[in-house]
Amino acid sequence: MKCIDVIYITSTAYSGSTILGFIMGSSPQIFNAGEIQYFNRLQKKDEVCSCWALSHQCPFWSNIYKHHYNIFRKPSFLKNIRISLYILLRKKITQDILIDSDEYKLLDNIFENAKKFKPKTEYIIDNSKSLWRLVFLMKCSGINLKVIYLHRDMFGCIASFVKHNKGFWRGVFRFKIINYLIRRLLINNSLDYITINYNTLCNNSVKELEKIGGFLKVNIKEYSDKLNLKNTHVQTGNIGTRKSLENYRGLQCDYSWKETLSIHQKNILKIIN
Ligand SMILES: [Zn+2]
Repeated sequence: MKCIDVIYITSTAYSGSTILGFIMGSSPQIFNAGEIQYFNRLQKKDEVCSCWALSHQCPFWSNIYKHHYNIFRKPSFLKNIRISLYILLRKKITQDILIDSDEYKLLDNIFENAKKFKPKTEYIIDNSKSLWRLVFLMKCSGINLKVIYLHRDMFGCIASFVKHNKGFWRGVFRFKIINYLIRRLLINNSLDYITINYNTLCNNSVKELEKIGGFLKVNIKEYSDKLNLKNTHVQTGNIGTRKSLENYRGLQCDYSWKETLSIHQKNILKIIN
């Protein structure tokens, strides 16, 4: 069994992972496959790919959707709690928590297909973000994981929760818990990872992209100024974000939280930050 090199991006929702995935995928050595955890859903239902074709007509995914793979599904609530407790108590996560799946076969198919589109492909990006999927991939054999932990500041992240009507307190709760669990998981399991701060990435992208390039030993910076989405095949992530990337001329920091959050909400975040 050969080893597949997978870059896994993990973060809370609204941390800028869609953009980061596209930027990294601009390198000839990296193929951005988007949020692979939604494979089964996308296989059933047509979505618009970033190449602008519908899922089943996309030259990349149409080949892969021909096969059926039983892949990772969101764990049940009880299983989530159990995995969280394992992480919190620093207990070794045992194989019995996980399900048998065709994860390796799917990733191998994506990898081999990616090489037809980008012959220099060394890595595929799984931009699923989910902590549970990361736990799952850690336990899969034949997968060499490199993790990018993307961290966005609390104000920007919670403002996005509010803007998308996902709720202020829900945002605060998820931000705190998920970030804490991700850090614990990465450290306790000695995973190969780097932390990227979204604001630093926007303010000093050259330096941060060099850091990612050094971690992966590939050149990202050189290709990241202009994104050509027509040559990409990502079917997940916010479609508005994808559209905004069509005229991409470098990363811009988003300070819209200043208007989105009320004074009361800003004060609460100052206290708990
Ligand atoms: Zn496509």
